[in-house]
Amino acid sequence: MLKNKKIGILGGGQLARMMVLETKKLGFEFVVLDPGPNCPAAQVGAEQVVGSFKDEQDIYELCQQVDLITFDIEHINIASLKKLEKIGLKIFPNPQILELIQDKLLQKQTLRQAGLPVSRFMSVADIEQAISSFGFPFVQKKRFGGYDGKGVLLLRDKSDLKKAFSQDFYIEEFVDIEKEIAVLVAKNLSGDISVYPVVEMIFEERANICDLVICPARVDPQLASKARKLAIQSISALGERAIGIFAIEMFVTKDKRLLVNEIAPRPHNAGHFTLNGCMTSQFEQHIRAVTGLPLGSTDLLLPTVMLNILGQGTGTPQVKGLDKALAIPGVHVHFYGKKEVRPFRKMGHVNITAHDLEEALDKAHQVRQVLHVVGIEA
Ligand code: ADP
Repeated sequence: MLKNKKIGILGGGQLARMMVLETKKLGFEFVVLDPGPNCPAAQVGAEQVVGSFKDEQDIYELCQQVDLITFDIEHINIASLKKLEKIGLKIFPNPQILELIQDKLLQKQTLRQAGLPVSRFMSVADIEQAISSFGFPFVQKKRFGGYDGKGVLLLRDKSDLKKAFSQDFYIEEFVDIEKEIAVLVAKNLSGDISVYPVVEMIFEERANICDLVICPARVDPQLASKARKLAIQSISALGERAIGIFAIEMFVTKDKRLLVNEIAPRPHNAGHFTLNGCMTSQFEQHIRAVTGLPLGSTDLLLPTVMLNILGQGTGTPQVKGLDKALAIPGVHVHFYGKKEVRPFRKMGHVNITAHDLEEALDKAHQVRQVLHVVGIEA
């Protein structure tokens, strides 16, 4: 257990905000490091060091005030974290795990070596070798820094080559995907593991951002149980020091195979539904896991659909239709307090709980029609 119950978070965005909101009630205090003054987590009661999570001095300043460090983002300065770990700071998940996950190629190799099913992939010297080894179509992925599909390209034929990445990439076969699913898994300091129900992710086609998350996923129960097993095996493949919550994204192929696509070492968009849908939210589960507490129940309380509220336009946010959305029973709105809207930026999400999934889906479509966050130019 933590002595002073003060937790540092690198990044003060929506994930940090929800960790704070969910676990201040357990008596924890938070300090976040984020470049934007009054960041989303600071607005709900975290102290803030205004600075960069890539700057060693700023990270050090945060560390002096807290008992342990966790993350809201994974694209951070690993070298500084390793130094801090050497002088005794507790960091969860461990910097070595973050380093492995930051490199998508190394991550896939690790999963494959552990015998987990992944898509066929290859490290290639250049795009010519990719074409001769895989032929068109194939998927090109940046090894570092990609998120929300930025860093992933489908190359269908020669005419797509002009948009190809020129360095630090690897290639994957183009998978015929029937559904994209995810499983959240938490492991605490005692080694206990808990797994959430499988969710289905539906993507916004234009921005390639996950738009709807549906729980339970509409898949065969045997496949769901296999996915949960694969999720546990995936975090085991990361080694003993994988502590905290992890989201394991998978593909269900048209021929009903399951492939592990990638692991996120933190609370994830695919787990926001747990705030209203499950006995224990992913945010509370993560903080329980990294502070040496027992894990909570992951049981689903009611079928739940999560709808991301993506920004429209650019400028100061203006919320439209909150009254209409809240008039629908079972609608739970979570805004992130971001000060600027950009097209497709995640401004908040809505969880819709209902006694059956069809009803929740229907209500989610109603919410999508009425609730908007639009940018107002100054
Ligand atoms: P990111 O971390 O940027 O989200 P992903 O690896 O999850 O990157 O890929 C983003 C999306 O691209 C996936 O959700 C999926 O829709 C598509 N995709 C990724 N890899 C493949 C593949 N090998 N075949 C077909 N589609 C893929």
